[in-house]
Order: sequence, then structure tokens, then C-alpha cells
Amino acid sequence: MLWALLAGVAGASYAGYSVARVRTPLGLQAAFEALAQQFPCNAAAQETIPTLCGGAEILKISRINQLDLLLPPNTHLNTTIFTSVSVLVPDVQQQIEEEQVAYKNSKFSLNDGNVSNFGAFFDSFKPYDQIEGFVKTLVATYPNLLSMEAVGNTVQGEPIVAIRIQGKQGTGIKPGMYLEALQHAREWLAPTTLLYVLNELVTNYGKDPAITKLVDQIDFMVVPLVNIDGYKYSWTNSQTRLWRKNRRLNKDGSYGVDLNRNWGPAATWCSSGSSTVPSSDTYCGTAAFSEPEAQTASSASSKFLSGRPKSAAVDFHTYGPLLLWPWQYTYDKLPQPDYSMFMKLGQDIENGLNKLNPRSAKYVAEQGSDLYPHSGGMIDFLWTTGRTLAFTLEGPGTSFTPPDSLIEPAGKEGLQGIQVLAGALLN
Ligand SMILES: [Zn+2]
Repeated sequence: MLWALLAGVAGASYAGYSVARVRTPLGLQAAFEALAQQFPCNAAAQETIPTLCGGAEILKISRINQLDLLLPPNTHLNTTIFTSVSVLVPDVQQQIEEEQVAYKNSKFSLNDGNVSNFGAFFDSFKPYDQIEGFVKTLVATYPNLLSMEAVGNTVQGEPIVAIRIQGKQGTGIKPGMYLEALQHAREWLAPTTLLYVLNELVTNYGKDPAITKLVDQIDFMVVPLVNIDGYKYSWTNSQTRLWRKNRRLNKDGSYGVDLNRNWGPAATWCSSGSSTVPSSDTYCGTAAFSEPEAQTASSASSKFLSGRPKSAAVDFHTYGPLLLWPWQYTYDKLPQPDYSMFMKLGQDIENGLNKLNPRSAKYVAEQGSDLYPHSGGMIDFLWTTGRTLAFTLEGPGTSFTPPDSLIEPAGKEGLQGIQVLAGALLN
């Protein structure tokens, strides 16, 4: 959902870069044209949403004619086309450095393979090896509840891990819930939120009656990091922190396909909100499921969910806060009664999320295309192929580098949302 483009930042840090929220009184189209002129790229293809070069990036589009823009130092925007709302991040580099300081000061340690200090895992964002260690230790500690397997490999050959949560065996086939995060590498809060949810489900099993019931009555599959290569790359240094795509080497020498534009069905793949320019941050790839990460996530989730009486799924992203339901690829509405069903369920989950949300920015549930249509995402695919109750959760925050203090609230809100969604599977 977050439109992005990183083309111009290679070789520079984010010193002096800011994130600004602006209104576009003449409309989004006029704003896109002005931005394309001010930050031109060589890309030949015409795009609905322009790819920007020179370090600028459209981070987020809101339907109220509002944009969040990443801007290089000393940028002056045309005040006829853009009116300032607020500066969301005065210095992007400073936020990136603060993340690393928090990580270095973390109380979390994997040394003794002991889960007693696992709360500390959520005191800061963690690199991939620590996430891997956290998951392995959790699975080893709760062998009756958890199992894990590699369900495929990334483009660079990294195993993509799926964790199964299974409580008491019942007599019939249980409903299934598939949870995944990090199609987009820079959205570090997304896997952190999902791991928080996983940890809560497991550590409260047998203690909290509501969670015990949930885990006993629903089978879960959790894929905390779909885009491992991209995640590792985003941890390389401050210049790579805002990387979004996977790490496919494209034919033109550029890197990366937007995994959240790469899912099928083939009939609607790359039909909206996607770019065919390989260097673009919304590049849809060479075909539906050309990327092993999207292919792996789709086949693992489909296999896990198929044949069950009911199924649900959530794709964790940042930042919103938003909850999106199908369709994402078109303004067309789902036929009735599906449309009303999703609207009602979305509203219930929104209320659940907001029940714990003390911030002024409240979660909003809406059809995924309400901002801008974008094809190739998980939720359209899983709804189309298996009538799975599929949602995209765009977590809280006002940037891709939110403060660590947001980790715990985002995790608690995510768990609450999952509990409301689970209710729809058990009715
Ligand atoms: Zn995303």
C-alpha cells in the first residue's frame, strides 16, 4: 500500500532527509505531475503513480488528497500545489541511528537458549539472526504447541520458515488462520508485531482462557518474514534502511521485485498500482509469482488453508494505521453479501484494534482500493482462490522507522485484532 521509490539514494545517507505530510489542494494528479518534474527519472514507461529520482519518494497516499513524502535536504515544494500539514520526521538519519543505539542497548540475549528473558526481545528491532534464534528457541521450548518447517527459499536461497501452532486435537478439521509479515523489507514493525502475537499466543496458552480456547480451536500458520533477503539488506547500513523489494537481480541490472505486486491471479496481476519498470519500487516482476518468496507464501498458505471449514489470513505491513479487505486491485466492490460481510467484520476488527489504541491516529478499516487500486497482493489472491477472510493490516506509526516504544502497543493491538478475526471463524 505504501508507494515507494528509492532509486536516487544510493551512495548517500539520510542526513538531512525529512518526511513531510502535505495536502494537495489541486488534486493528487497535479501533485504527481509536479513531483515527477521536480524529481525526474529516466524511466520510459508512463506510470499512474510516478517513480521519483533524486532521493525523493512518495511514502504514502491518502484519499483525502494527502501525501507523505520523503524529501532530500533543502527541498522546496511548489506552494500552490502542496500545502504543509506537518513534518512527520525532521531527520530520517537520526531515527535510523536511534534504532541502532536501542538495538545495541537491548537486554535480550540468545546465549543460554533460555526464554526467561524473552520479553526483552521486544525492547528494540532485531536483525535476522536474532529473530531466527528467537523463533528456534521458542519452538524448542514449546514442542507440544509449536513446530516449524522451511516451506521454500528466497531468491538468494535463504529458507523461508513457517511455524505451526496447534493446541488440543479436536475431532473434526479445525478452521485455519494464516499470518505473514514482511513482504516489504523496511517495514520492521510488521514482523515484530507478528512475533509479539506468536509469543503471546504460546506463552499464555493454558493460562489465559480466551487464548487457550483460540489455540485449541484454530490451527495457525505463521510466516514472520517472507522477504528475508530484503530484511537482511535493510540492516546493512543506514543507506539501505528504506529498501522495500526483494533482492532479485533484474535484467536491466537493477534489484528487486515488489512482492506485494507479484501475487496472482494471473488475470489481474500487474493491472493496477504496479510498475513494469524494474528499478521502480512497485515493479510487479516478469509474471505472476515470478518471485520465489511470493510463490512460497502463496503455496504454503493455500495448502494450509484448503479443505478447512473456514479460513482467515492477515498480511502484516506498516504504516497506516489501516485495515484493508478485498478488492485491492480494483475499485469494483465485492458482490453481495460478501461486501457487507467484509465491511462488518472489518469494522469489528477496527473497533478491537482501537480499543487499545490511545493515539490520536485511529485505525480505519476500508476496501483496499479506497486509497489507490493495487494488484498482486495476498488478500485478493486468497479470497479469490479459497474464500479466505483475508486482510492487510497496516500497523501504527508515521514512518518506516518508528520508535521502539511503539513495538509493544502495536503487538497488543495486533493480538486484539487477531482475536476479533478468530471470532469470525468460530461462529
Ligand atoms: Zn508494505
